[in-house]
Formats: sequence, C-alpha cells, structure tokens
Amino acid sequence: MTDLPRRRGLPPLILALLYTGAVLLPLAFAAAAGEAHRHVTMQFAAATGTVAAGMILLQMISSGRFEAVSGRIGIDITMAFHKWAAPVALAFALAHVAFLIGLPDPERPYRVTRRLLFYATSDTLWDARFALLLLVLLVVLALLRDRLPARYQIWRASHALGAVALVALLVWHILGDGRMGPAGTALWIGFALAVTLPALWVYVKRLTRPARDCWTVAGVRKLTPRIWELTLDNPQGHRLRFRPGQFVWASVGGRRLPLHDHPFSIASAPHDPQLRLLIQEVGDFTSSLGSVTPGTRVGIDGPHGSFGPSGKPRGGLVLIAGGVGIAPALSILTDLAHRGSACPVRFAYSAHDTKDMIPQEMLRPALEALNVTPLLMASTGTGDGVAQGRLGKAQMQRLLDGLDPAQTEVLICGPGPLMTSLTDLLAGMGVPLSQIDYERFSYGSGALSRKDKRMLGGFTLLFAALSAAIAAYSLT
Ligand SMILES: Cc1cc2nc3c(=O)[nH]c(=O)nc-3n(C[C@H](O)[C@H](O)[C@H](O)COP(=O)(O)OP(=O)(O)OC[C@H]3O[C@@H](n4cnc5c(N)ncnc54)[C@H](O)[C@@H]3O)c2cc1C
Repeated sequence: MTDLPRRRGLPPLILALLYTGAVLLPLAFAAAAGEAHRHVTMQFAAATGTVAAGMILLQMISSGRFEAVSGRIGIDITMAFHKWAAPVALAFALAHVAFLIGLPDPERPYRVTRRLLFYATSDTLWDARFALLLLVLLVVLALLRDRLPARYQIWRASHALGAVALVALLVWHILGDGRMGPAGTALWIGFALAVTLPALWVYVKRLTRPARDCWTVAGVRKLTPRIWELTLDNPQGHRLRFRPGQFVWASVGGRRLPLHDHPFSIASAPHDPQLRLLIQEVGDFTSSLGSVTPGTRVGIDGPHGSFGPSGKPRGGLVLIAGGVGIAPALSILTDLAHRGSACPVRFAYSAHDTKDMIPQEMLRPALEALNVTPLLMASTGTGDGVAQGRLGKAQMQRLLDGLDPAQTEVLICGPGPLMTSLTDLLAGMGVPLSQIDYERFSYGSGALSRKDKRMLGGFTLLFAALSAAIAAYSLT
C-alpha cells in the first residue's frame, strides 16, 4: 500500500502570527531605536509607509508557490489573501502620502498645494513616485485581469517583473530616507532578500530541473468534446508522491520557466505508475492539447495544494464534482477504493450536458469497490442514470441521508457558483464549515460562500491588527 505524504505547511494561526510579526518588525525596530517625528501626522506617515512596504514585500511569498505557506491552508486561501492584501497595502501607501501632505491649515492656505507640488516634482522622490505608480498599476491590472485583452501568460510575466521592480524601488526609497542607521539598513535589505530570493529560486531551479521532474506524454485522449486526458510516464521510473486531491504545475513541451506552467489536479491515484491529468479546453494552451503527441516532454512541479480528504476517520465523506472538477474526485475515489476504505462515501457529479461528462467506465471500478451509487446530473441531454437538472437542496439532502452532518466531511470541486451555493446549502443542513473543503480552478472574482466570508473576516481582523499597531506607534 502506497504511503500518503504528510500535509506540509504551517497552520493558519502560525502563518497569521508570522505575517503580522514580519510586517511589524521594522516598525518595532524604529520604535526601539527611538526614531520619532515631531508631528503626529508624520508619525502616522512613517508608520503607514513602513507597514505598506512590509506588506508589499511579503506579497512575493504569498503567491501560491511555497508549500510552507499554502501546504496546509490551501491554494484558495493563499491566493485570496494575496488578492486582498494588495489593495490594503495600496490603501496604507496612499495613507502614507496623505499623512505626508497633511490636512489643510486655514492659517497657511497654500501649505497643502506646496507640499503636493513638492512630492509630485522633487528630484529626490522619483523612486517613491515610480513605486506608487507601479503599485497602483499592479493592483488595478490584477483586479481587471480577466477583462484584459492580453494573454494570461503576458499578464503573469508583467506581474512578476513589476513585483521585483517594485521591491527594488521600495527598498531604494526607504534606504534613501537617510535617517536609518546601519542596523535599520541591514534589516530592510535582509527583509527584501528573504522574500525575493525564494521567489527568484522558483524560476532559477527550473533551469536545473532534476530529470525526475521531466515526464513524457504516454497518451492523449479526448474524453468529451472539451476534456482531454493526458497520461504521463516518467522515464526515470520516478513516482510522484502526492495526496489524492492535490495538483501539479505542468509545462508542456520543454518550456522551462514557470511562466509556462499551468495548474492541473492529478486525476490518477498515488499508487498508479502513470500520472493522469484531465484538462478542459478554455484558452490558448488548453485548446492546443490536440496537437500534443506521445513522447512530448512535460515538466511537472508538485505536488501542491491541500484539497482532499483530511485522512481522519469521520462519519462519512461526501464528494461533489462539477465539470472538470471530476479530476481530483477521480483520484480520491480510486485511492479510497484501493485502500479498501470503510468510511461511508457519497458521490455526486454534475455537468452542463451529459456529453460533457467523462465516460462512466472511468469511475465505475472505484464506485463499485466502495459500494457507492453515484448521483449524476446534467442540465441538458440524456444519459445512463443521469438525472436532468442542477445539484440543489434535494440532492444535498439525498447525499447526507443516513449520515450525521456534524461528522461528515464534504469535498467540492467544480465551477465557482456551484461550490458557493452548495457550501451554503450544506452548512445550512448542519455540516460544519470547517469540514467543507473546496478548490477553485480560477482565481477570478465571484460570489462568496459563508466559508469565504468567514475567511475574509479573518483577513479583516489581521488588517485591523496592523492598523491598531500603526495607531499605537503614532500616538505613543
Ligand atoms: C489548483 C488548480 C487546479 C486546476 N486543475 C485543473 C484540472 O484538473 N483540469 C482543468 O482542466 N483545469 C484545471 N485548472 C484550471 C487550469 O489551470 C486553467 O484552465 C488553465 O491553466 C487555462 O490555461 P489556458 O492557457 O488554456 O487558458 P487562458 O485563457 O490562458 O486562461 C483562462 C483562465 O485560466 C486561469 N489560468 C490560466 N493560466 C493559469 C496559470 N498558469 N495559473 C493559474 N491560473 C491560470 C486564469 O483564471 C485564466 O483567466 C486548475 C486550476 C487551479 C488553480
């Protein structure tokens, strides 16, 4: 029996404490060094600027590539944090500028205008102006990404290069302040290196990728009008050790840099010698799979992610897959069957049309071994045992029938709206939010589930703690 690797990565509370500690370290250092300004607005300016800089630097390592960060909390929460921390850092940066300019003073009517002009034109502040402009651009382009006419890869390359340039400009600006002693200078340089080097290492290590990460295409098969199955062999005989539900970054055709990587869930089970991916056509890369031939090289970086059964014995496991979300579900079911799991399993699979569903023979062996009758649904079309409609309350009740919701673990993978609505329905039926896990295949915006709102509540608390630290530093 294949041993499953342990979940790597830090627990959420430790991550939150490390994050807060890292952001506030330069502020604590400034306080300890007795760096103080005469006016309280200047104190606020220094504190907001310092916190903004710390947050921006840490964005380099919250981009979903580091298992220490995302291995336990999952890629969804990691990317959500990356997405929400950016505008908050921008807000602190804008507050930094606003505090520097100060409030209008009736006794000095031209002060605000004079200061504005100074900050906008001073030769010594070019780095700060460029940094602010770059930050605004990075945040706005990321928020508008899905609507940009540029290819995803172009946006991603510009985002990565822009981020490195922003870190360099920021550190240059901070050190250029001139009031920092050697220890302060060392602190900021160390901070910048600590976040930049790991991010650069993700790129550099690709150029020296070990042979065991180079797989070759053994077969390409069209399963539905838009879903391809890619089977990969490892010429070195290396087996990827992963937990069912995890994903890999794959780059097809000898392309080495991570810019060409695409994330795909592993559809094979850990005991399978081959690696199998199910890939749905959505854009330029996924639509080109028809031209991939056996023998093509595929670079694999992984496993990543924390989606999948917790492994702790529970009252039952409900697995729900929508569309190509069947990929991780297939891996999970096959693995449970291989292990002879005794945990009651319920399974639902839905697609827009029956012809968009993968062949049932691919699921049957695992379902039969687990004694599971699948709940299959499609909005249109007819098929063997496939009911017409969408997954909703009645289907969730059926899945939970005979299980104790409080002891049931639910895994959902599929389109965003499906995961959001089903999470809320299941939570309403007594399944604790902590026992519902889902994974998005796209980081674009969409409706929020109760679980997402709880996560945002956690982020808000963290950002509020940073604001409180700014106030404490400035007012004492
Ligand atoms: C954790 C995870 C697991 C996934 N598993 C699967 C799977 O098993 N099967 C499957 O068909 N799809 C999966 N996806 C989605 C898949 O990665 C994208 O559909 C694919 O990368 C699109 O590439 P494209 O060039 O064809 O399309 P594009 O038009 O370039 O992109 C379409 C959308 O896909 C997303 N995307 C594109 N490239 C990337 C990238 N490099 N990194 C992150 N997101 C990207 C973006 O939201 C983009 O807007 C998964 C995504 C994630 C995040």
